[in-house]
Amino acid sequence: MAIEHTLSILKPDATRRNLTGKINALFEAAGLRIVAQKRIQLSEAEAGAFYAVHKERPFYGSLVSSMLSAPVVVQVLAGENAVAKHREVMGATDPKKAEPHTVRAQFAESIEANSVHGSDSPENAATEIAFFFAGTEILP
Ligand code: GDP
Repeated sequence: MAIEHTLSILKPDATRRNLTGKINALFEAAGLRIVAQKRIQLSEAEAGAFYAVHKERPFYGSLVSSMLSAPVVVQVLAGENAVAKHREVMGATDPKKAEPHTVRAQFAESIEANSVHGSDSPENAATEIAFFFAGTEILP
């Protein structure tokens, strides 16, 4: 299978609690490779645009605020079947429903402050990667 890329975000609840290394160790152990990475403070406009697909959901305002509450680490992960593999290691959106070994089961604070974001399809991954990274910032 060809190498795929996916966008991963370590959310404010994870950076605040100094969990970025522990979480990335799980992704790396699953065979995913960090090929681009930066720690940034999202602006309200950026967080709103990134989650625009959820604009009509009741939690949209709260989700955007939570994404602004501390820096995030945005990163590109590469590997075979990277989109699905990353989401498998992340676990279900609601940590109460996530498999025990997953990032969200182990580290999430709540359904909203759930430690990680991951693209949900190769098409969305390409759009989300381009939202944060120039092609020249992605290295093997
Ligand atoms: P994901 O692909 O597993 O991240 O889930 P979604 O795309 O459905 O939702 C995007 C993000 O919105 C999630 O990761 C959560 O941070 C947040 N979210 C999803 N569902 C809820 C909810 O019911 N309540 C709140 N407060 N936040 C939610």
